[in-house]
Amino acid sequence: MKSNPFTNSYFGLGRGFYQSIKPTPVQNPELIISNRVLSDELGLADTALSSSAGAAVFAGNHVPEGAQPLAMAYSGHQFGHFNPDLGDGRALLLGQIHNPDGLSFDIHMKGTGQTAFSRNGDGRAALGPVLREYLVSEAMARLGVPTTRALAAVTTGEEVAREQLLPGGIITRVAASFVRIGTFEYFLARGDTAALTRLADYVIENQYPHLKQVENPYPALLDAVIEGQASLIAHWMQLGFIHGVMNTDNMSIACETIDYGPCAFMDHYAHDRVYSSIDHHGRYAYNNQPNIGLWNLSRFAECLLHLIDADTGTAVEMARDRLEGFISSYQGHWLTGMRAKLGLKSGLEQDRALVEELFAIMASSNADFTLTFFRLSMLDMDASKDDAILAMFDHAASLTQWLDKWRQRLRQEDSDSDERKARMRAVNPVYIPRNHLIEAAIRAAEDHGDFSVFHALHEVLQQPYDLQPGKEAWMQPPQPDEVVHKTFCGT
Ligand code: AMP
Ligand code: MG
Repeated sequence: MKSNPFTNSYFGLGRGFYQSIKPTPVQNPELIISNRVLSDELGLADTALSSSAGAAVFAGNHVPEGAQPLAMAYSGHQFGHFNPDLGDGRALLLGQIHNPDGLSFDIHMKGTGQTAFSRNGDGRAALGPVLREYLVSEAMARLGVPTTRALAAVTTGEEVAREQLLPGGIITRVAASFVRIGTFEYFLARGDTAALTRLADYVIENQYPHLKQVENPYPALLDAVIEGQASLIAHWMQLGFIHGVMNTDNMSIACETIDYGPCAFMDHYAHDRVYSSIDHHGRYAYNNQPNIGLWNLSRFAECLLHLIDADTGTAVEMARDRLEGFISSYQGHWLTGMRAKLGLKSGLEQDRALVEELFAIMASSNADFTLTFFRLSMLDMDASKDDAILAMFDHAASLTQWLDKWRQRLRQEDSDSDERKARMRAVNPVYIPRNHLIEAAIRAAEDHGDFSVFHALHEVLQQPYDLQPGKEAWMQPPQPDEVVHKTFCGT
């Protein structure tokens, strides 16, 4: 990593914001994968990625020049309950790299050993969750969803004790910022308004510099995060993505998808789908994600109140107005995205009902989320190619009726069928990181040290919108015996 020196602006915020600590070296690091495309975008030197020097850097055994590793302090609401003492218990922020365009990116490693925030944890990550995060975050990026990126993954040559002994891993992640709503909550809980102001100014300086010109930038900051999260969550919903653990410490101030734990893309559509083994009441179910987004943003607004206005009543009023805008913004993004998925260019009043009717039929017909939209984007204006999609639905007759309505709606716009199909294909993926595929990749790696499934899956997910010859098996939903019903944090 010589080409582009590190700095660490977070260091300047002061000691209350972090613990300054180096990664704990590991025994025998080996590079599993490094992300050449991303490293080029960041302007990193090629050699750092493939060599043994790369393994040492991405395992934390060698700290690159200019990096000032630190564990960030944060709190968070976990399943609705406030926990004042979270923080990077097994992760470190190395610092920032500026890409050739001058944009700053946080480089963060997960699995690097104990910190002051580890509580009873070992500070390590198991290989399985590392592979999972690598695959899903990179797939999200290729799908066009704002997300933290994966720069590299290594095995450590050490075991971690979970319910059983598992091989250890470390993932290096890249994000616009690793500041979370929980970072703000940490200082609110301590009544430290000076630190809250410094943090808000830091976020504005680094993530929202255009707000510096605004007379009162703090309500504008709230607006920006509300808007960014409304758009992000709408994006998740359009792809059938379930984050699984939308605690406030897992919600990024830069509005990227962050912290891939028990996340999942759903196969068969159900509006209240839950995969996470720890989400017993469905708090983070698919259809509850927008509500939880708003709940989390309300916690963020509370942290900014004293900055929004010196008069608490006025501040509350202003924050409430902005929070009320979340749902309409979310619904706007959702409907725009869903229209695009159906190939519609214009917006008509009746479109929401058309979309909702399709989802209802998918639910009652056990239809696969991703394949439904993909197969829809292959259809012509006549029914000549309808067989493949009809075969996916238990109640094909309901879909036939819906397809009639859909085609009537398409006829109301002046669009060429091929052009319309191309637009649909650009937003309806063929390949997603399905749970059973991720599971197969993890099993081969953990049980047999075989990374070929991981690499093959990663490769297919690099072009999720393109039908890749010979890769048909990767687009299929699981066979009954392959279905993954529960996903785990693996912490
Ligand atoms: P997560 O579930 O990854 O969002 O983590 C929630 C909190 O638990 C964070 O404060 C983590 O740093 C901490 N944590 C999770 N796993 C470990 C671990 N193995 N060792 C220490 N802290 C951990
Ligand atoms: Mg987290």
